[in-house]
Amino acid sequence: MKATEIHLASRPTGEPVSDNFRTVVTELPPLEDGQILVRNTVMSVDPYMRGRMNDVKSYVPPFAIDAPLDGGAVGEVVESRSDAFAVGDAVSHGKGWRDLAILPAKSARKVDLSKAKASAYLGALGMTGLTAYAGLTSVAQFKEGDTVFVSGAAGAVGSLVGQIAKALGASRVIGSAGSPAKVKRLLELGFDAAFDYHDGPVRKQLAEAAPDGIDVYFDNVGGEHLEAAIGSANKYARFALCGAISQYNATEPTPGPRNLALAIGRELTLKGFIVGSYNHLAAEFDEKMAQWLADGVVEWDETVVDGLENAPKAFIGLLRGENTGKMIVSI
Ligand code: NDP
Repeated sequence: MKATEIHLASRPTGEPVSDNFRTVVTELPPLEDGQILVRNTVMSVDPYMRGRMNDVKSYVPPFAIDAPLDGGAVGEVVESRSDAFAVGDAVSHGKGWRDLAILPAKSARKVDLSKAKASAYLGALGMTGLTAYAGLTSVAQFKEGDTVFVSGAAGAVGSLVGQIAKALGASRVIGSAGSPAKVKRLLELGFDAAFDYHDGPVRKQLAEAAPDGIDVYFDNVGGEHLEAAIGSANKYARFALCGAISQYNATEPTPGPRNLALAIGRELTLKGFIVGSYNHLAAEFDEKMAQWLADGVVEWDETVVDGLENAPKAFIGLLRGENTGKMIVSI
């Protein structure tokens, strides 16, 4: 059987371009014991994949050149040599960027498409949602009454952070995003204030949106946003350092926040995290998020790009802010 895969053809320098990717048709080997064959229906493109395109050591190994990329996907089991899965089961797994995937049954997880559509398991009900929940509640130690600032707020993680904070009793939630349409959407989602970071210095816009300071900063962006958040931080504020997307395409080391010394007197906590270290919160998160979605307390947006061959375009678009909510590729 033939599969179509997207390979990394070359490592991007700065912003990725379509020439960094190649579509390859390959003959699949027969299944071995314990393996399943999955026909993917949706796949995820995520900012962390940009880091994996560089040849540097990180918490996940770099992608290899001339080999398929990988990442979150949901699909249907079309052949099974495992007792754990039957043909027709819907599964979530880590072999995206291809239409057909062979994988060990133990690395797939059953999902229930009667409860939510496939893409939800890559977004609000998947790794994205857990990142928002764990980062806010555990890493940033959110408490009722906190004023919360989140950057990348109209994106997949950010939009959930803001809504979860409201659901848990934040006194004020402020979001920053990259366009007027995104700012409007944040206000519709229940954010108390939102601004477009292109409209002026983040420091100034944040200070106006949070006149009494912030208690929690959920950082998806780094750079100028992080420095501004330190400037607006109240005593004992907690920062969850989730991502630094403003720096992912940088070709030179980027400077740190110039006002970091404020963290001393204000007794700030700045803590980085990787969602994979918070799987112990998955069951609690699944239950709460299912309820919030059912009650309409949390909404989730997605931007869908059609066709596996357009996955590189979707990924490049994600880094440019072409998505509102989760960027999904339908296959
Ligand atoms: P998003 O859906 O937020 O998509 C990325 C967004 O980043 C774009 O839509 C764009 O929106 C914004 N962006 C791009 N460039 C810049 C810039 N220079 N300055 C400010 N914003 C920019 O992606 P995710 O929700 O999947 O991920 C959000 C962050 O969380 C990323 O940094 C990611 O790496 C991180 N992450 C970390 C995890 C962890 O375990 N620590 C797990 C999952 C995600 P805009 O139009 O607003 O600019």
